[in-house]
Amino acid sequence: MAVNIYCPLCGHKTHTRTSDRPTKTTVTAQLYCTGCGDFKGDFVGEITRIKTAKWNDDAEIKNGINQDDLPKYRDL
Ligand SMILES: [Zn+2]
Repeated sequence: MAVNIYCPLCGHKTHTRTSDRPTKTTVTAQLYCTGCGDFKGDFVGEITRIKTAKWNDDAEIKNGINQDDLPKYRDL
């Protein structure tokens, strides 16, 4: 997992023992600490906000390109 979760007891980075993805936006894991050895915990991570890109044709920009700036077949 790309997210680091730190031990609440000693601050050492925890390790993931097992993980699961119950849905497309959530992950669960069992964490343990090798720093102090006194911590085990259950972790739940969730994507709480989703944004998506929308791609649109833009004829105004396309038509504004100077045709002389485009490569010619003879130049390729
Ligand atoms: Zn610890």
